[in-house]
Amino acid sequence: MVLQAYRFALDPTPVQEMGLRSHCGGQRYSYNWGLALIKVNLDQRRAERSYGVAETDLTPSVSWSAYSLRKLWNHAKGVVAPWWAENSKEAYSSGLANLATALGNWNASKAGTSKGPNARFPRFKGKRAGLSCRLTTGSFGLTDDRRHVKLPRIGVVRTHETTRKLARHIERGNARIRSATITYRRGRWFCAFSVEIDRRDPVSTRSDSVVGVDLGIKSLAVLSTGEVIPNPRHLDHKLRELRRLQRQAARRIGPDRVTRQVPSARWRKAQTRIARLHTAVANARRDGLHKLSTRLVRAHGTIVLEDLNVAGMLRNRRVARHIAGVGMGEFRRQITYKAGWAGGRLQVADRWFPSSKTCSACGAVRAKLRLSERMFHCDQCGFTLDRDLNAARNLAALVGEAIGGMSSPSCGATRNEPDGNPRQTRTTRATGTATGRPTRSTPRRKVTAYETVPHVS
Ligand SMILES: [Zn+2]
Repeated sequence: MVLQAYRFALDPTPVQEMGLRSHCGGQRYSYNWGLALIKVNLDQRRAERSYGVAETDLTPSVSWSAYSLRKLWNHAKGVVAPWWAENSKEAYSSGLANLATALGNWNASKAGTSKGPNARFPRFKGKRAGLSCRLTTGSFGLTDDRRHVKLPRIGVVRTHETTRKLARHIERGNARIRSATITYRRGRWFCAFSVEIDRRDPVSTRSDSVVGVDLGIKSLAVLSTGEVIPNPRHLDHKLRELRRLQRQAARRIGPDRVTRQVPSARWRKAQTRIARLHTAVANARRDGLHKLSTRLVRAHGTIVLEDLNVAGMLRNRRVARHIAGVGMGEFRRQITYKAGWAGGRLQVADRWFPSSKTCSACGAVRAKLRLSERMFHCDQCGFTLDRDLNAARNLAALVGEAIGGMSSPSCGATRNEPDGNPRQTRTTRATGTATGRPTRSTPRRKVTAYETVPHVS
């Protein structure tokens, strides 16, 4: 049993669209209402403390759980939102559940128990926030004609494409819908079902096969098998068109918050065209990545990727557009879950593993390798190979060794490191090498380590 989402684009009638919008608005309203309540409570308690009120005499704190927030909302809704009956109660529960999650994240982040960057205290949702609403109970699901979805209060909404891919699983009894989330993104309504599904994926044809994948910009991926997957550069191909549309939009009258200028209909039309272009690019990119990741998972039992610092690379504005245009993070996400479904293995090399600088023939590590050097040339054994293919082979060769999973920091990087690696600096000094040559704290990796790996000759 896995949890999987099935998302369908909707073609609602104007009346249904109003219903969808109203539900998302209700979600936002209850979220903001709960947040205001909690802020007032926190401020009150802070003020009382500053007057020296004893801890036991303070105004009681409001519980942050979704359950108690819902109870408070049900008490107050008749007064603060007399129109509440227009929407399914699920809309309000959805907002309060999101608020409870946001507060929980902030709490965990403050306590240092969560991974990732610090979470901010939740902020009020403005009108420009993305529209969405989650339905967890009630009558939602697919219809028998496989062209509509049922949503509470909103009714039976036509889908843009057939719902066959999910309907078949449900009819066979393999899948159960747990919740439905409606969203409005890039000018289009979607309904995503969270489905508990019994997947029977084909096991990879060669489960002993190992492939190293070097992701890049010049080519999307270079496999250790020698296969090069070119970068389709979807956005670059559309840039001329995008610039033309943006110039067009700039000549039209847009909104202005200061003068309260309402955007013109022509400006809106231009924005719709820009959004459509971005959607086409994103769809094409996602499609290509899905095809590649599925193919890799079907063909190989073990896939080795690099742990790329995508967020860090995106901060470099010279390459940000190209990095984002590849979708490396999305690729890794897809490989991760697809490998799990197919019973394959994913290994992620440590962030500091010098995959490009290591010689895939003898294991020596070069101190420096400029990005402009497209061919790897080994100083020690004279081996020459395409830079990316060399990196992919090094990744594939990692499999024979005991490298950790995604979070484990241990990998070949502790064995042989180039000079200048931040994590090796101390060790380098301790062993006292002043030659500038690569330092090795342990003996050079044996050639046999990767000769046992298929695909690498
Ligand atoms: Zn070499």
